[in-house]
Parts: sequence; structure tokens; C-alpha cells
Amino acid sequence: MRIDCLTLFPDMMRAVLEESIIGRAGKAGLLDIRYTNIRDFAENKHNRVDDTPYGGGMGMVMQAGPIYRAYQSVLDSAVKPPRVIYMSPQGRVFNQEIAKELSEEEHLVFLCGHYEGVDERVLEELQAEELSIGDYVLTGGEIPALAVIDAVARMVPGVLPSEDAYSEESLYNGLLEYPQYTRPPVFMGREVPEILLSGHHENIKAWRREESIRRTAKKRPELLAQAELTDKEKALIEELLQPVGKE
Ligand code: SAM
Repeated sequence: MRIDCLTLFPDMMRAVLEESIIGRAGKAGLLDIRYTNIRDFAENKHNRVDDTPYGGGMGMVMQAGPIYRAYQSVLDSAVKPPRVIYMSPQGRVFNQEIAKELSEEEHLVFLCGHYEGVDERVLEELQAEELSIGDYVLTGGEIPALAVIDAVARMVPGVLPSEDAYSEESLYNGLLEYPQYTRPPVFMGREVPEILLSGHHENIKAWRREESIRRTAKKRPELLAQAELTDKEKALIEELLQPVGKE
């Protein structure tokens, strides 16, 4: 998968994406992550890429021209038109389902805004879809883009050891993940659940599934509507969600 980041802070993004699992996937050739500094496409002697908003008001707006030219430079080496995503608090709120969908694309371009945002006309020209990481406002699109890229990239085949590494995780199937434990078997007097030491894979699988359901019902009951459940599991949930004191 190819990912292009259009940003004023390429070093900030590179520092994160060249580390750990995503960094290794890049080195292995599974991900081709490229960084384009929008400032390199300014056409004035001070390399300015922002200006005051028409109509007045606070702050600065990123100009359309440098962003457009930065995008054109990406297109020069693209095999086919990429999917363009503008990180914006006004966008569709990102989730695991969108991450899965994006992981199936061949080429994504992330446009990171700054200041008061970007000139609307370049979003129209690039046919950019807007994606938000939540209902709060950050100073720039780099941190949101990093969060999205990380979530998307780890689902690209080969980046994690197997699909099981993410398909059993929280939110993938509408359930939160079961509790995890590692050595030592006793920590501050707290023991690892005995079943996990039994070596009985079927029983462990069943225990984990039930724990997933129990903690989803406790922490995020609204998620259960999307989960695929057996009748027995639905009955368990009904029991778990009964108001306290009701028989
Ligand atoms: N004036 C804009 C508004 O009210 O919609 C907010 C601009 S924000 C200060 C600057 C940049 O940060 C945005 O252009 C966007 O790229 C990024 N950004 C801020 N919050 C975000 C969020 N929740 N999700 C995605 N991107 C965000």
C-alpha cells in the first residue's frame, strides 16, 4: 500500500511512522509511506503557505495553490488516482470499520491542515473526503493522520503476523477484547485465571469469548448491537444487562 502525507511537518510524521511495527513494515516493502512538504510548493520568497481569511476573522487559512501543487507532485508518480482524505474535525468520525475499508485501498493521500484549516476550493478540486478522529479540535492534522495511518497500516496483509492479530481485537467484531495476561503467573497476589494455564485450547477460546461479551456489556453495551451472537450469548447479555435488583 502506498500512503502519501501532505503536511507542513513531514519530520513529525516520519518520526512516528518510521518506528516500531509500521516502520518495520515500511522497511520490508509492505508499506510505501511518502512525505510531501506543502511549503516546498509555495511560490513566494518567504515560502508562505497561509493567508488571512476572506471576510475577516481570526487566524490564518492554508492557501489552495501550494496544496494543489503538492498533490500534483504526488499524482506524477501515482499509478491511478488515489483516495484523498482531509483530516478535519468536520469529517466522518473514524472507527475500526473505516480503518478496515481504507486498508483495502492501494493508495491513500492524507492532507493535514493547520491554523484555521484550508481553502475550501482545494478540497473541492481534490475531491477530498473529510475524516475526523473525534469531536475535539487539535492544532493540526498530523496527529489525526498518524492515528488513522497506524490503524489502517496494521491491517495491511503482512504487517501483523496474521489476521488473527487484529480480528480478535477490540471493536473488530463489535466486541471488546478479553483480558490479557503474561508472566509471572502471580503478581501482587493476583493469579492468572487458571483456565489460561490449562493448555485446553477449546475451553480457553470459549472463556475468552465469554469474557469479551461480559466486558463489552459492562464497558460499551451500545457496541453489542453490531456483534454476531449466538442465542446462548444473547441470553447471557440479557442477564448481564438486567438492572440491578431485577430478577
Ligand atoms: N477551523 C477549523 C474548524 O473549526 O473546523 C479547525 C481547524 S484545526 C485548528 C486545524 C487542523 O487540524 C484542521 O485543518 C485539521 O486538519 C486538523 N484537525 C483538528 N482537529 C481534528 C480532528 N478532530 N480530526 C481530524 N483533524 C483535525
